[in-house]
Amino acid sequence: MIRYLCDYCGAYFDRPSKVHHRETVGEFTREYVDEVCPLCGCDSLSHACDCPKCGEPMYAGARLCDDCRKSLLGRLTEFADGLTAEEEQQIDDWMDGDTITNRKMWK
Ligand SMILES: [Zn+2]
Ligand SMILES: [Zn+2]
Repeated sequence: MIRYLCDYCGAYFDRPSKVHHRETVGEFTREYVDEVCPLCGCDSLSHACDCPKCGEPMYAGARLCDDCRKSLLGRLTEFADGLTAEEEQQIDDWMDGDTITNRKMWK
């Protein structure tokens, strides 16, 4: 299901309000529908979905929401800050051309 995040007020919803417009230019009348935020009426909406980790809204295409990314980076930094220079280099060696997903193969 496509959900939306309002770029202006941050509201998270799946049904934008529809605003009907009628525009007359000379003898032509054009009708169109704008999709807007149901809270603030802003028409700048981004596709969004639930964060797979915490369920909070995040922009579609992201892997984790901002809070989960910050929390992960915080935990990683806390761990890495306790390493000696040699341990850091060992981890660099393991991760050179590899991914953390393969860590069970590291020795
Ligand atoms: Zn809004
Ligand atoms: Zn999250």
